[in-house]
Formats: sequence, structure tokens, C-alpha cells
Amino acid sequence: MIEIGNAFWNETEQNGLAGIVADLRPDGRLITASGHEFVNFSCCSYLDLDSHPKIIDGAIEALKRFGVLDHCISRIRLQLPALLELEASLSSLFRARVISAISASAATAGILPILASGYLTGGVRPTMVFDKNCHFSMNLYKPVCGDESLVVTCPNNDVNFIEDLCKSHQRVAYVTDGTYSMGGHVPIKDLLALQQRYGLFLYLDDSHSLSIVGEHGEGYVRSEMDEVDPNTIIVATLNKAFGTSGAAIMFGPDGPEVGKILERFGGPLAWSQPMNTAAIGASLASAQIHRTPELAQRQRRLQENIELFDRLVVTEQAGNKFPIKLVTIDDSRVVQCGKTLYENGFYVSPVFFPIVARDSAGLRVMLRAGNTSEEIKRLCELIREFVS
Ligand SMILES: *Cc1c(COP(=O)(O)O)cnc(C)c1O
Repeated sequence: MIEIGNAFWNETEQNGLAGIVADLRPDGRLITASGHEFVNFSCCSYLDLDSHPKIIDGAIEALKRFGVLDHCISRIRLQLPALLELEASLSSLFRARVISAISASAATAGILPILASGYLTGGVRPTMVFDKNCHFSMNLYKPVCGDESLVVTCPNNDVNFIEDLCKSHQRVAYVTDGTYSMGGHVPIKDLLALQQRYGLFLYLDDSHSLSIVGEHGEGYVRSEMDEVDPNTIIVATLNKAFGTSGAAIMFGPDGPEVGKILERFGGPLAWSQPMNTAAIGASLASAQIHRTPELAQRQRRLQENIELFDRLVVTEQAGNKFPIKLVTIDDSRVVQCGKTLYENGFYVSPVFFPIVARDSAGLRVMLRAGNTSEEIKRLCELIREFVS
């Protein structure tokens, strides 16, 4: 993987598309020390909340209110009220029992081994089915889960494959993204039907749709469920559209009990640092924005920008209402195309193996609520020249 992937990274860096250092200007554009100005079209802050003045103020105010960045002691033993305040706010916002983590990756590292141990499935070690397309942060724990239980990989979104396993194994847990980083999402209705029928456990990382989907930004997966079933855990980073730092873990009614076990035994959730006070303050402010009509306005602007892009450049993701679009360009040209865009004032990251499967390189465009239609039109004009 390194041999193939690193050659691309070297080419990317040599062409000035990696290792860029630039300052963010108040208008959202970026500027390098040598004065090159550009718009970032590969940023996951889809609602542009990351630089929202209320969120910056929230971080500063919380630091002043609590007087410390991180009062370093395990929260099982002693904690400031800060995290509890945030978890209560996110729980009511997302209508689930929410526990925080420093990142979605740390949440997964803590939860998956416990899930594989059978603790969450009535003492029966579940067969762990990982989707072929699930994110690195989950794939990484296959060997750890394999130490506890049987680990299987299924073709992307293959509900029949999962159902067959449910028929022949006492308990099954399906591990994947709620919304995939290269477009598409899980067939949630079918999965919930399997959950009803066979007690399928669902571990879904919905980092890519938090904030951009749902009345209160609860994300695609959560918005498709009335209640969070005891056999479901949803994880989502707060570092993408939510605009802050940290992660939310959403549980059903067993949340408090499971939360305590995770704090005691959940890998980095137990031994590593929690979200710090600045991240908590920023997240409280973002949660507040999620309660106002401003959220829907930003969601709508994002959808308008996605629709505009889809009208101008056809990708496999056209029409799916998610902000990530992969413009496929063959391996030999993808970096040069990225370089031309950058010279014209647009940063779009070239992606290649192992970020995507081999021989499916492309430019990964990420749209944001704050993009102007002029920016999108100009970007699309340039892209159309490469693909024509
Ligand atoms: C971005 C992303 C992550 C990483 O989130 P962190 O909170 O930074 O660990 C994890 N999972 C998925 C699906 C992602 O898209």
C-alpha cells in the first residue's frame, strides 16, 4: 500500500498540492505566504460553521468559565461539569443518549472491541460483518475484533449477504459508515428490518451527514429512526459539518449504563484525554445554532450548491444530496488536473489508492454552504475542460 500510495503522494507534493500552508481570510478564501489566493473545495466543514463567530466565542467563553483547558484526571473519578453540560445538550438535540469522545476514531477504537466481546449483545460474541467500503477508522480494528469473535467482510451494502449471516449465526453486528465518504449511504430501512427480525446489531459511523441532514442536524441515519434501538450505536465526528472538534456517540435507552462501561474499559475512551474545554464551548455554541432557523438556511444553501454542481458536472454521485463528488480522472492525469485548478484559484484534492480503490483516481470536490455560485460555475467550467 505504501509503495503505490506514496508515489502518488510524492507527485502530489512535488506539484504543490500537498503540504500547502495558508491563512484563512475573513471571507473564507485562503492565502499563502507568497500571496496565492484560492477557494478550498476539499473541506469537510460543509456548513462553514468552523469559522462561525459564535463558535469561536463559545470556545473562548468556555475557557474563561471553566478556567482550564483540561483538568487532567480520568472522568470516571472526577470531572468538571463541562462535558456533562455538552452531553445533555447533544442528547436533547439528537434525541438519543449522547456520550462524547475526543474523535470518532477514538470512539470506534473503544467500542468495537467491546462489541466483539459480546458485552453489548447479551453475552454472545457477535459475528462482526464489516462493509467492504467502511472507513479506515473501523477497518483498522478488524484484527482486534478478530481476537474476540469471527470477522467477515461483506460486499458494499449487501443486505442479502447480511441476512444470510443472520440466519446462520446467533448474533451478527454490521459495522459501516451511515453515509459513505465517496457518496451513497447504507440502505437503512432494510437494515432496520433485519434488526427487527434477527436482532442485528448496527454500528454506524455517520460522520459525513451530521448537521447537513435532519431537522436538528442529527444526520441521515438518526433521522431515519424514531428511537435509537438498544441494538444500535451511531458515531459521528463533530469535526466535519458540525464545525467543532470531538465526536458524539448516540445510544438508545441503555446509554448511561453502556457509557459507564466505555469510560472504564473502552480503550482510549478510558485512558486518553476527553474533549477539552475549548472544544466543549465551541460545541455548545454549535448545538445552539443547530436549534435555530440558521441551520435550515445553511442546509438549504448547501443543497442549492450541490444541485448547481450536479447540473454542470456529471459524477456518479449526481443527485444524491451529499456534498462529496468524485470526478474520475485517470491516474496519469489526476495530479496535473489538480494543479491547473489550483493555479486558477481552486484547491480540489486529487485522490488515489489507498484513499480510493486502485485505478479509480479522481478529484474529490466537496461543496459548502458558503460557496458562491460564481465560484462553482468557474470551477465546473475548468473541470469540464479536463473531462471533455
Ligand atoms: C472523517 C471521518 C472520521 C474521522 O473523524 P475523527 O473524529 O477525526 O476521528 C471517522 N469516520 C468517518 C466515516 C469519517 O468520515
